[in-house]
Amino acid sequence: MKLEPAEAARLREVDKRFLWHPFTPLEAWCAPDRQPLILTRGEGVRLWDSEGNAYIDGNSSIWTNLHGHNHPRINAAIRSQLDAVAHTSFLGFTNPPAIRLAEALIGYFPEKTYGRIFLSDNGSTAVEVAIKMAIQYWQIAGFPQRRKFAAFSNAYHGDTLGAASLGGIPLFHERFQDSHFPVHRLGSTEELIGLPRADVECLAGVVIEPMIQGAAGMRLWPQGMLAHLRRWCDQNDVLLIADEIMTGFGRTGKMFACEHEAIWPDFLALAKGISGGYLPVAATLIRPKIVEAFEKGPVETTTFFYGHSYTGNALGCAAALASWQILEEERVIEKLRVSTFSELLVSRLSPLGRVSEIRSIGLIAGVDVAPDGKPLLGARVCQAARCHGLLTRPIRDTIVLMPPLCIEDAELETMIEALRLAILEF
Ligand SMILES: *Cc1c(COP(=O)(O)O)cnc(C)c1O
Repeated sequence: MKLEPAEAARLREVDKRFLWHPFTPLEAWCAPDRQPLILTRGEGVRLWDSEGNAYIDGNSSIWTNLHGHNHPRINAAIRSQLDAVAHTSFLGFTNPPAIRLAEALIGYFPEKTYGRIFLSDNGSTAVEVAIKMAIQYWQIAGFPQRRKFAAFSNAYHGDTLGAASLGGIPLFHERFQDSHFPVHRLGSTEELIGLPRADVECLAGVVIEPMIQGAAGMRLWPQGMLAHLRRWCDQNDVLLIADEIMTGFGRTGKMFACEHEAIWPDFLALAKGISGGYLPVAATLIRPKIVEAFEKGPVETTTFFYGHSYTGNALGCAAALASWQILEEERVIEKLRVSTFSELLVSRLSPLGRVSEIRSIGLIAGVDVAPDGKPLLGARVCQAARCHGLLTRPIRDTIVLMPPLCIEDAELETMIEALRLAILEF
């Protein structure tokens, strides 16, 4: 969908006047020579701007899209729900897509792995649910002193104040430190094991991005670490919260990243890809032992005091259910082009002098472009990549590649070639 140049110019101007974009400095965004891309259409792994230029969506629209844009099955599911009703309250009422989504997700796991699902709107709220439910669980269980959390250095769990308290990225989190609740910050599992007994007995839970930290710059954990963490939590009666907001739904080559080390967390936080990248939906899956604690007792104690107005949104759940059916029925994970992806990364990008390291798992990669004194090369490489038909966003000097799961070999080649040409410009 092209826009008239005059209309595009007007929209850009109004955007610069009235809107405030996430993680974006206003001065740079509003600079007269900055021409923000206006994205107007999508199809499969491609997006089009208002001038009709096509791009590969190299980071799945900030890590959300799974099956491509404009997917006929998800579109149809949303349209059909829209003809029925868009949204009804989940406080005291229920609706078919939310129920069917819960049934499908819980049914994926071995029986009795997860007892219930708490729905919310985004990754941060999925983590907030786990934090608050863990605290209240320990109150019900008679250990109210267990209300602290341990989280890893460079972790990212979202931007609301509770989820951000768990975050450990200095640039994002340090400035708000005094307003966060205190956490035990861990450089490694060894530091957790080394915590004094008295501190362990005040822990409600430990939170981790399993297998790979995303916002930290696509950093992989050592093999075996997750299984080790699970064992430690079991031995010390500490709840394990896995933040699979980025890694869930096939992104790492398995449906959930925890499957790489054959563990299940006590809380599994899901968002981003859950709706196929269509609508804001999130889910926190909860182990039966936690659910059971809430199942009987005085209402003041066992009511979980948490919720949002759009919890259980019917359109979002309909999209999520359709996305899940595609994952299962079209055997998306079996067909992922993981080996083509990793081979192309190595053969096309690692010979480049600017590339200092490539890390990847499944269809997620971080490509470090060695700065050798040049600050923010990442942003400039991504800007250059646009001219070669690739959209993505860096994390400092790490270029993120995380295409939709439906990407085919030829498209992978186009995407990586675009990045190669962009890197060669520097
Ligand atoms: C994106 C992300 C979040 C936050 O999700 P939002 O939907 O942006 O609130 C939390 N944890 C991880 C690992 C993420 O990648």
